[in-house]
Amino acid sequence: MIYVSTRDRMREVPSARAIMDGIAPDGGLYTPAALPTLTHALMEELKPLGYAGRAAKILSLFLTDFTAEELAEYTRAAYNPGKFAHPKGYPVSAPDVDGIAVRTLNKVENMLELYWGPTSAFKDMALQLLPYLLTASMKKCGETRTVCILVATSGDTGKAALEGFRDVPGTQIVVFYPREGVSDVQRLQMVTQEGDNVGVCAVEGNFDDAQTGVKKTFGDPEVRAELARHGRLFSSANSINFGRLVPQIVYYISGYLDLVRRGAIHDGERINICVPTGNFGNILAAVFAKHMGLPVGKLICASNANNVLTDFLNTGVYDCNRPFHKTLSPSMDILISSNVERLLYYISGGDTAYVRERMESLKITGRYEVNPELLREFTGICCDDTVTRATIREVFERDGYLIDPHTAVAVYAAREYRKRTGDDTPQLIASTASAFKFCAGVLEALTGHPADNDFDAIDRLAEYTHEPSPAPLTGLRGKDIRFSGCTTKDGISDAALKLLIK
Ligand SMILES: *Cc1c(COP(=O)(O)O)cnc(C)c1O
Repeated sequence: MIYVSTRDRMREVPSARAIMDGIAPDGGLYTPAALPTLTHALMEELKPLGYAGRAAKILSLFLTDFTAEELAEYTRAAYNPGKFAHPKGYPVSAPDVDGIAVRTLNKVENMLELYWGPTSAFKDMALQLLPYLLTASMKKCGETRTVCILVATSGDTGKAALEGFRDVPGTQIVVFYPREGVSDVQRLQMVTQEGDNVGVCAVEGNFDDAQTGVKKTFGDPEVRAELARHGRLFSSANSINFGRLVPQIVYYISGYLDLVRRGAIHDGERINICVPTGNFGNILAAVFAKHMGLPVGKLICASNANNVLTDFLNTGVYDCNRPFHKTLSPSMDILISSNVERLLYYISGGDTAYVRERMESLKITGRYEVNPELLREFTGICCDDTVTRATIREVFERDGYLIDPHTAVAVYAAREYRKRTGDDTPQLIASTASAFKFCAGVLEALTGHPADNDFDAIDRLAEYTHEPSPAPLTGLRGKDIRFSGCTTKDGISDAALKLLIK
């Protein structure tokens, strides 16, 4: 399997190099030159396996520098039941499908619950595995320096990356989060992080300030030289790194097989997939699964009030010249979705000049266009916070099912799609976070009353819904705060160096 830069198809690298570098030197994203095929024989082979076994087989199609034994070892370690555990042990279709659950709501709607990992959001599905892939990639490339992961987060990625990389030999991780932009739970999850190779620092300002400062630090030759003097180098754990995307392809295929196994669909039957989308990583993994041959019809892309993608997928015009909204679903508050660049590569038939032109236009004018005919497999649907709240309430009261605000945006989109089209094809809807992670918004949506603070909200939400709150979230209460530092956007380089080179 050959990887190319989305901006220059002559720039070819093997999978280990793509994962180690994170991003191509020309600013493009590494992506498979062509996608592998999901044969009937392989689907049969996957059927009886647990999640880790399925993941190892699917990864082997993409990560051809790795042996089957290596991938089996990494996936067993990453997806072990001690890390991914459904508190009630239901309704995992088979006991060996390590805690990754599909919950059927009715004849059409099936929820792909991806949040039973250690940080209560779907990002664990990739970030529990990435450290194994990254450290092995470095060995394969002959790189012996310590790898330093620098993360700017709006909340969920930072914690999931910290938890994935904690105490992994040969790695260090530093996370910067906006002081004003995260919930109490998200902040406490990060500043109480355990591990000897981790660092966390607040940034004055919003997510864009943190992101800008981190990007500048990455590209700063003086910082890189200082790191190199201390035997270190930078890499990325954001979804620009292909190592973040490939583990996500697995759960769409595995979810499909689970639906077949329990008789909700017959073998070969088409499904529609609906994903709440921010950086376009999670839905791109569904696109990959479909283009590999999984029987998928429509891809429904759900957005909040930051609806750049809704307009793009429906009209072909990507235009981020619009106001930025802070919403109840903060992990989807994003105007520049970096993984759309990989989509452009495939819909243009691998035309990297076509991609390059559009990315240049985006940089200069904040806008570009593509032929909308190329986007026909998608539907974009968005909703605001009022509709999000109403959906959380409706799903809890009518379906007896508790969802977080990101998932609520997806459920709304999935239902709205059926209303508009009458298409009753079975749906697989990505459920991306525990409602307890966004407890303040969920509690208010359900009861109409806000809570005093997030811990109060966790308790009241558990009481109101009779659902158990995830132990790692309730356990935050008594934990020591390890990282109380705060810096400005321009202080990020110094703060990073201080945390990395003690
Ligand atoms: C990150 C995140 C999303 C968006 O996923 P993308 O891959 O960025 O599109 C949706 N929901 C939750 C809870 C998230 O943490």
